[in-house]
Amino acid sequence: MAVVEVKGLKKHFGNVKAVNGVDLSIQKGELLVILGPSGCGKTTLMRMIAGLERPTAGDILIGDQVVTHLPPRARKIAMVFQSYALYPHMSIFDNIAFPLKARREPKDAIRQKVEWASSILGIQHLLDRKPRQLSGGERQRVALARALVKEPDVMLLDEPLSNLDAKLRASARDELQRFQRQLGITTIFVTHDQIEAMGLGDRIAVMYAGQVRQIGTPQEIYHEPADTFVATFLGSPPMNLFERNDCLVGFRPENFLPPGVLQPEDKVTAFPFHVGRVEYLGSDRLIYGTIEGAAEQNKTISKLPSTITVDIEPDKVYEFVVQAKDLKFFDKNTGKRIEPQPLD
Ligand code: ATP
Repeated sequence: MAVVEVKGLKKHFGNVKAVNGVDLSIQKGELLVILGPSGCGKTTLMRMIAGLERPTAGDILIGDQVVTHLPPRARKIAMVFQSYALYPHMSIFDNIAFPLKARREPKDAIRQKVEWASSILGIQHLLDRKPRQLSGGERQRVALARALVKEPDVMLLDEPLSNLDAKLRASARDELQRFQRQLGITTIFVTHDQIEAMGLGDRIAVMYAGQVRQIGTPQEIYHEPADTFVATFLGSPPMNLFERNDCLVGFRPENFLPPGVLQPEDKVTAFPFHVGRVEYLGSDRLIYGTIEGAAEQNKTISKLPSTITVDIEPDKVYEFVVQAKDLKFFDKNTGKRIEPQPLD
């Protein structure tokens, strides 16, 4: 059952088409990640779902009810945004209890819910403190607890981990996923970080310039990109792309391999790879070069795990290979994915 549905949603600010025709259907209990570069319309889309922004066109349904023109409080949602403002003069308990007090819930029920949410997030021991006595990660969890006590049907999280350092971010991601699964709350999570998106999402919607370019599982988005934007936005380094026979050919750096690595029976295409530079990164080796015979200026990268130890030297040409299944083809003009083409 779809809990949240977005149909033909648009938001234009004068000439700026911040969101320009988005359709989404989010299933019960699903964690959908909205991934895209800065300015692609992620926050505007979330603000419309939350009821903080009036759409220019289109509809939003939550639990089969059209809520497009309802105020935020009439939608059973909770939000945690990047700047998860806690009230500095209130204790952590009061911060978490705030939405329940605003709803005038009975005192006992409030205490019970605050204790429940803080135990899920492991912050029971902090309830008497003030926000300034907490670390960034702890404050983050308080903001999530404040969202949880509302027992929302849908949780909207807009870059909620972006204020944390890299290590804390990884553990917060882990925690978030655990409690989201445990409680089965339908969640929409916005980020511009592909690692966060791949690690968290049941599905990912990749946005660019106000539109969803592709929606699918992390595996689908990574291995079967719908267009060149998705192909190059995900992956580090991104997919190699070059022009051949009037179309664009793409393959991932980790699928571009030196001779002798694949089994002889694997169906492969070989490319003469002129090696420019080799970079050792510990677990991986990155090899930068160009494919001879392809259009000029085609920079190509091979990413080899340290388990592949074959010697590769700069200024030499090697026959690197790609398995047929790993070659992706795109229309040269539209960038859209097309059927595999002959390469000779
Ligand atoms: P970021 O990751 O940087 O937060 P985003 O993907 O969330 O970016 P939005 O904040 O939704 O992007 O903005 C999308 C576009 O709409 C941007 O070009 C932005 O400048 C524009 N925009 C957003 N809000 C307004 C507004 N109130 N008035 C005019 N333009 C706006």
